[in-house]
Amino acid sequence: MHYFEYRKRKLYCEDVPVEEIIREVGTPVYIYSARTLARHFRVFDASFGDISHLVCYSVKANSNISIIKLFANLGSGVDIVSGGELYRALKAGVSPRKIVYSGVGKKDWEITLALEKGILMFNVESAEELENINKIAGRMKVKAPVSIRVNPDVDPKTHPYISTGMRENKFGIDIRESLALYKKAVSMRNVEVVGIDCHIGSQLTDVKPFVDAVKIVVDFVKTLRERGITVRYVDIGGGLGITYRDETPPHPEEYASAIGSLIKEMDLTLVLEPGRVLTGNAGILVTEVLYTKRTGEKTFYIVDAAMNDLARPSLYGSYHEIVPVRKKDGKTTVADVVGPICESGDFLAKSRELPLVKRGDFLAVMSAGAYGFSMSSNYNSRPRAAEVLVNGDSYEVIRERESLRDLLRGEKIASFLKKRGEL
Ligand SMILES: *Cc1c(COP(=O)(O)O)cnc(C)c1O
Repeated sequence: MHYFEYRKRKLYCEDVPVEEIIREVGTPVYIYSARTLARHFRVFDASFGDISHLVCYSVKANSNISIIKLFANLGSGVDIVSGGELYRALKAGVSPRKIVYSGVGKKDWEITLALEKGILMFNVESAEELENINKIAGRMKVKAPVSIRVNPDVDPKTHPYISTGMRENKFGIDIRESLALYKKAVSMRNVEVVGIDCHIGSQLTDVKPFVDAVKIVVDFVKTLRERGITVRYVDIGGGLGITYRDETPPHPEEYASAIGSLIKEMDLTLVLEPGRVLTGNAGILVTEVLYTKRTGEKTFYIVDAAMNDLARPSLYGSYHEIVPVRKKDGKTTVADVVGPICESGDFLAKSRELPLVKRGDFLAVMSAGAYGFSMSSNYNSRPRAAEVLVNGDSYEVIRERESLRDLLRGEKIASFLKKRGEL
């Protein structure tokens, strides 16, 4: 469910014509629907009903401070994976008591900052990291709340790049070695064991891998209890998929009831880290058609958005629906939609049946609200796109389009290059 639809042949986001935003803000532009975001959060959160739980929005899916704030206002916590995301979350006003910190490579300054602020817990991903957290907490004379991220070795049946819960992935601790690490953790002076964590992958379209993983984790919690080690939180990560094309992911209620039934009467608080399912279908990327090019058999629509704006098609071969901002009838053509970047991998769609569009027309790349702007870069010295948040019949720019000056921020010409003849 989302609030992007045609009215009188024009694409709207909520009650705002997309063309109106383009006129003011230009292209490429990311447009998000606040109502859709709020609806997704509420449906997800309500699905868990009276099961004790905390939803921690996974910031990396869409890190704009307004998006974080929107979820925080609805009661969400956050899942962060860097000091930068911690900074964003704090600036958005998220309570540190609702912040969980995941990721395999936490640096000392990041751990220190998280301890200073008093986050809910660290999801620890290696023995060495655990020792380091204990050491830093010791220096600061505090106790670090930790969960250990276990790797339950289940196959989420998703793209290998976004699969994280199998033995060969870099994430988490092999569940067979986790007991030893828990024993070690409870013996440490400056660590408090509060939970257990797993995250098996992203864009999952079936509940079975989640159920398999949670069963393994819950069994392990029982093993821990037999050994006198108690945990309060079971963090099952994110990963619930969305419909990009014809996938039929489980409804959050189905997901919640399948998992809820496994932890009932366990006296545990569930922590959930949804990202994509909250933001994916709440955003679009709008781009202008620059040129049409026909070479031999192929037609290319060359547009002003590229792989630096939306990396998913190039990175994972992902499908995003593409529709015209002003609806067209009649003839269609099969075309590749490509950006201006000097890479053959720079495409938004391949061999796609599309209406006949021409220079100056606009296209909307759908379902671009997750891992869209947050994965964007300046490759080919392209200023990053603007971001707009629509709410009802009004909208605001929540990130300005980068300027040429922004491109050079922090760069300088080395002093020895300022005089000729010194090389
Ligand atoms: C990326 C990530 C998430 C969010 O995944 P989605 O598929 O977007 O829900 C949650 N937890 C961790 C640890 C992650 O790395």
